[in-house]
Amino acid sequence: MSQGIERELEFKLEKAISEASKEEIYHALLLLSKEKMQGMQRNNGNRKLYYISAEFLIGKLLSNNLINLGLFEEVKGVLKKHGHDLSEIEEMELEPSLGNGGLGRLAACFLDSIATLGLNGDGVGLNYHDGLFLQKFQDHKQQEEKNPWITEFSWLTRTEVSFEVPFKDFTLKSTMYDIDIPGYHSGCNKLHLFDLDSVDETIIRDGIQFDKNDIRKNLTLFLYPDDSDEAGQLLRIYQQYFMVSNAAQLIIKEAEERGIDLYHLHEHVCIQINDTHPTMVIPELIRILIEQKNFNLDTAVDVVSKTCAYTNHTILAEALEKWPIEYLEKVVPHLMPIIRDLDRRVRRDFSDKRVYIIDEMDRVHMAHIDLHFGYAVNGVAALHTEILKGSELKPFYEIYPQKFHNKTNGITFRRWLVHCNHNLADYIKELIGPAYMENAQELEKLLAYENDDQVLARLKEIKREAKQELKRYLQVTQGIDINEDSVFDIQIKRLHEYKRQQMNALYAIYKYKEIKKGNLPKRPITMIFGAKAAPAYTIAKDIIHLLLCLQQLIENDPEVSPYLKLVMVENYNVTKAEKLIPACDISEQISLASKEASGTGNMKFMLNGAVTLGTEDGANVEIHQLVGDDNLYIFGETSEKVIQLYETGEYSATDIYENDPMVEELVDFIISKELIRIGDPVNLARLYKEIVGKDWFMALLDVKDYIQTKEKMLEDYEDEKAWAKKMLVNIAKAGFFSSDRTIAEYNRDIWHL
Ligand SMILES: *Cc1c(COP(=O)(O)O)cnc(C)c1O
Repeated sequence: MSQGIERELEFKLEKAISEASKEEIYHALLLLSKEKMQGMQRNNGNRKLYYISAEFLIGKLLSNNLINLGLFEEVKGVLKKHGHDLSEIEEMELEPSLGNGGLGRLAACFLDSIATLGLNGDGVGLNYHDGLFLQKFQDHKQQEEKNPWITEFSWLTRTEVSFEVPFKDFTLKSTMYDIDIPGYHSGCNKLHLFDLDSVDETIIRDGIQFDKNDIRKNLTLFLYPDDSDEAGQLLRIYQQYFMVSNAAQLIIKEAEERGIDLYHLHEHVCIQINDTHPTMVIPELIRILIEQKNFNLDTAVDVVSKTCAYTNHTILAEALEKWPIEYLEKVVPHLMPIIRDLDRRVRRDFSDKRVYIIDEMDRVHMAHIDLHFGYAVNGVAALHTEILKGSELKPFYEIYPQKFHNKTNGITFRRWLVHCNHNLADYIKELIGPAYMENAQELEKLLAYENDDQVLARLKEIKREAKQELKRYLQVTQGIDINEDSVFDIQIKRLHEYKRQQMNALYAIYKYKEIKKGNLPKRPITMIFGAKAAPAYTIAKDIIHLLLCLQQLIENDPEVSPYLKLVMVENYNVTKAEKLIPACDISEQISLASKEASGTGNMKFMLNGAVTLGTEDGANVEIHQLVGDDNLYIFGETSEKVIQLYETGEYSATDIYENDPMVEELVDFIISKELIRIGDPVNLARLYKEIVGKDWFMALLDVKDYIQTKEKMLEDYEDEKAWAKKMLVNIAKAGFFSSDRTIAEYNRDIWHL
């Protein structure tokens, strides 16, 4: 067998593998994988799913594709034989950062599972030339730079498929690019990414600035352009409509090619709308069926309503899209008559203003279109779905109880265990066999080793090796030295006040002060953060500034630095996540209860043997139920209490600050002379004021409980065997969070493929 791959590689390289450069080998492996995927069986079936999403945070594809093709071990062996290391070859690939965070990464995990389960389902999105910005740190602040990923050789394949997309003042012609999605031991699906030939990368000026008005040149240039101004928001509407018009035309073209009678479209097609970004697919499909396929309005609405399903990802009001009619009129006036008609239908049937599509301020509530004119809606974790039913979407739940589903998120174990943590994956295989890679529930068999000293010791050893790996990586990439014998406490996720990195920063201040007082921790602590802040989100950037200032303060203090280290990893992305997660001891999942819809980072950490420090929020609730009280650490107010505090408006950060000397001391440190000396007084003062005066996401509500719980956790860490047992239980119980399980549920209850 091995000879086969070896020959094929040499044939592609036209030279000996040992003499080829890393780049040449990468290109050869890319071509070889693409050929194998083209030769694979396509998943098919009578019904087809289109998963439409503005984001697919796919990450690097080489290893994942090799794993799913069943070639990984063989390729690794062949390369090794010729003096190359596959992980170094991977470095040649640029990460396609076509997503912001969890939502986009979920879509990528779902594609992997849909293909693996042999289901007939493709992704549809946009081919952004530049992914989410590259983050650099300068003067303790985030700088944004462009992040191109498309090179001469890439995973994209240009297709002949092209559609005309009509906007108000012009029509654009699209080009469809495909990325193959191979299932693990299964058939292949595709991710279709639409692009525009006229996009011009040279219009990008310093950082990530560009002319937002030149749509022909900028439409697919960037993921989610800064939408703090009108031009940015209009561009977003252009992007969304371009995406869904292409999707709708592709769906109809493929349906007709399959000989489907469009009046029965819903029997052969389902469309999953990932968050509200693709919502315009509903009026667009209705429009096309009427204008081009001679449907009458009622029938078009009926067929489309039976075809589309919607996933809600957030209850944060500011993230629920509401487009002013004025903006839609400027970009897609031809959709407005349909949207107005949908609104009329709602007003005809219901008197409750809260369920109208168009509100009194002439804004179109995108989620309301999905809820009325889709056949299913789902939340992404049990608690989130309950909150949707009980408060955020209550009026809709009362009208359509049968439409509501819960589909707790998941992650693909191929990437988040087999690929990112070979040592652990191999050891699990040694203990319980390889079946867990396709049937994640098999991991529970590990519980048989709960009291096996040898197994527990090996788990700790594997963790230490991962820490050493990370140490080497940070040394090379950021010139930072960390101690592999310290406890690794990691918070990596987008920067947002609701995720409360600021509360973790207050812990760092607490620990710094304790060490200054002579209360030394039993073991050094390494606090690691990774987070990008949206370019226009001022407070999030101020929190990054605080963390970077603390990093330097601690580093420069010889009394503190032997015991505490704070590291901010630059440019957090999928590739960095894959290096950080296997090395983690303490997984920080500390969002304000009720605000994190699910989280998926929490699942990745659990699967890799980290112990969760978290609130009863999102999927943490389900982790808690699975592992029990002994194997995670919960703190903070409940979601009921938090929701009540918002309703009554009785939360006051100022009261807590003024009445609790400990809290006051921690918060005051943000504007201490020590930090002002390092940082920018404007930024630090602004953050201080925000926390003392407003603290919208209630960091001060939970900070003391948080500190106490983390202290307890650090103490418990010293009982090596008890801790290793917690690690084992977490790994063993993680099977529920396989995205294979999530997708099987979507299919059983919503898609029926
Ligand atoms: C998993 C993942 C996320 C989501 O993390 P949460 O902690 O659930 O917010 C964000 N970004 C990247 C790169 C990820 O891999």
